[in-house]
Parts: sequence; structure tokens; C-alpha cells
Amino acid sequence: MPEFPAPVPTQDTEPFWQGCREGKLLLQRCAACGVVRYPPRPMCPQCTSLESRWVPATGTGTVFSYTVTHQALHPSLVGRTPHVIVLVELDEGVRMTSTVLGCTPDQVRIGMPVEVVFHQETDGVILPLFRPAGAERAP
Ligand SMILES: [Zn+2]
Repeated sequence: MPEFPAPVPTQDTEPFWQGCREGKLLLQRCAACGVVRYPPRPMCPQCTSLESRWVPATGTGTVFSYTVTHQALHPSLVGRTPHVIVLVELDEGVRMTSTVLGCTPDQVRIGMPVEVVFHQETDGVILPLFRPAGAERAP
């Protein structure tokens, strides 16, 4: 089976992926105006400052939108369908594309509270996925 296409960190995104490897969801916060942004990028969209800090996110949010795909969009996803693609609005106000674990696709709803869970996809690749908030942790 083909390998999952791992994200390729860049200078701008490496702290985000390093945070995931450490079990932390980090977001960029503008050092000048305080706006939180995602995905990571060099310039603040609000004030154009190039200065930023990495701050821990709560890891909680709600499903802003979602879709269920019945096609494997990549050969590594064969056998994983139907697959839910969600747009999670984090409590910090930014939206992150991900998926939801721990429930069936027909249980996903807009507005559903979710929390981040770090999922090891392949060696060295930890993805921030989500599960229904308050779900029992796996033993
Ligand atoms: Zn700014």
C-alpha cells in the first residue's frame, strides 16, 4: 500500500509540526497586534508584521463544516472510506482542515464540539486530528 503523503515542513510550518510531535497544538500569534493565524505564514494578514510567536492552542473547537467522501482521494486512503473531512473552528477563531476519529461519519454535525488528538500516521508523522469532545480516552 502506498504511504500516506506526509506533510513536508517548511521554515514557516516546522514549529507547528514539531509541536504536534510533542503533543502540543501550536498556533502563530502576531507579536505586533496579537492576531492568531493559521495556517502558519510569515506575515500577519491583519497588520503585515513579520514578527510572531508560537502559542499553545486549547485544542478544542467545533465543526464549522464537513463533507463525507466515499472515494479514496489518495491510494493510501483505500480501505479508509467513507472518510470525513472537517473544517474545525478552534476556540482561538482559526479554522483547520482535519478529520474526526471516534465516531461514524453520520454522527458528525456542524457545531459539534471536538478536541484535538494527535495521531501517528507513519514514523515521525504526527497529525492533529479531532474527536468528539469529552470522548473517553483510549486506554
Ligand atoms: Zn498583526
